[in-house]
Amino acid sequence: MIVALLNQKGGVGKTTLALHLAGEWAGRGKRVTLVDADPQGSALDWSQQRAREHSPRLFGVVGLARDTLHREAPELARDVDHVVIDGPPRVAGLMRSALLAADLVLIPVQPSPLDGWASAEMLALLSEARIYRPELRARFVLNRCGARTVIARETAETLADHDPPVLRTAIGQRVIYADAAQSGRLAFEIDDDGPAAREIAALVTELERIAP
Ligand code: ADP
Ligand code: MG
Repeated sequence: MIVALLNQKGGVGKTTLALHLAGEWAGRGKRVTLVDADPQGSALDWSQQRAREHSPRLFGVVGLARDTLHREAPELARDVDHVVIDGPPRVAGLMRSALLAADLVLIPVQPSPLDGWASAEMLALLSEARIYRPELRARFVLNRCGARTVIARETAETLADHDPPVLRTAIGQRVIYADAAQSGRLAFEIDDDGPAAREIAALVTELERIAP
């Protein structure tokens, strides 16, 4: 399966969730390649930091921030069980290419009612991609949910009928994600049975039900 984390907004958690999804799958014995499609290269930075810390390799990270991604990703997918694409900011050729490459698009959003979750432009690109790839699935994933996000959760339940629907698993606002990013690690390596490790496991389990 090729999963792309996309949102034209920066700072919503594309890289954080891409790394943790890849890590969770790797931990479950899957072969995973993470494609860093962001010209800023934060996933590549993370893997270099990881190498400096001599942490064991969990999955490969390749930089592919170019709009031929949709032709190259299927080739990468041939050698592994899952390809996870950490998407670029901004709506552009790169995002169109990532949309065409993916089987499943995850759109991380911060559950603020004041936030347009995804721009009309991005949703239009998604509809366009579905003309060519009707089987393409898309889901919102709530990230950085605080203790007061119960209200947002209820909104999520009602939004489950919408298109794209919202995943049931929401990811909390947790310092451990920032610590992990900085030290080239993953949350489950810092605390293997903590709330972050558990919600990431739940996220992967939910994804596997959507796209086995
Ligand atoms: P994007 O790739 O969409 O730009 P990032 O994954 O880089 O977003 O996240 C932006 C910042 O927010 C990073 O510093 C990251 O550590 C932090 N962050 C992301 N998700 C969470 C979370 N659930 N809890 C705490 N910090 C988070
Ligand atoms: Mg990023």
